[in-house]
Amino acid sequence: MTARVCSDCPATISVQSKGGRCRACANRAARNDPAREARRLAALRLAHQRPEYRAKKSAENKARHQARKDDPAWQEYLREQGRRVQAAYRASPEAQERRKAASVGVGQKLRAQRLAWCPAELRDEYAVLRCDPDGRLNPRGRYWRRGSATMDSVAIVKRAADRGWQPDSWRRVG
Ligand SMILES: [Zn+2]
Repeated sequence: MTARVCSDCPATISVQSKGGRCRACANRAARNDPAREARRLAALRLAHQRPEYRAKKSAENKARHQARKDDPAWQEYLREQGRRVQAAYRASPEAQERRKAASVGVGQKLRAQRLAWCPAELRDEYAVLRCDPDGRLNPRGRYWRRGSATMDSVAIVKRAADRGWQPDSWRRVG
């Protein structure tokens, strides 16, 4: 039997190989085929909907992390990869623009998550936070921040009253 070599790289491959490529090159070729890649991603999305699949993958990831987290070669690989990604990011104005565009509305999304229990039309009223007189958030602060305004308790009660809130409304039944 003569050894066969991958058509795309110098790796030796099995004589039974049908595609004529090593596994890595076969995968790369498959990823470059848009229709095939779309099918692969669709199947992956479907698999991710199954809780058992997610649990299995999560356990695998944790085990892999545990096994190599203290390996200096792996740590160096991660650092090196981080440097590569950073350099590519700094060299690409398009990537920086994409990141800027993606961060628009993050504040609103976070707020929608935290106030998910609250009807959307009332969220403005609930987004009032305790703070210091200078507006710095402080859970024990004696002042209140509403958007960019800092108010003491008198001002915030007056504002609510101006908008129709009645402090004794809880007394009235039905
Ligand atoms: Zn190859």
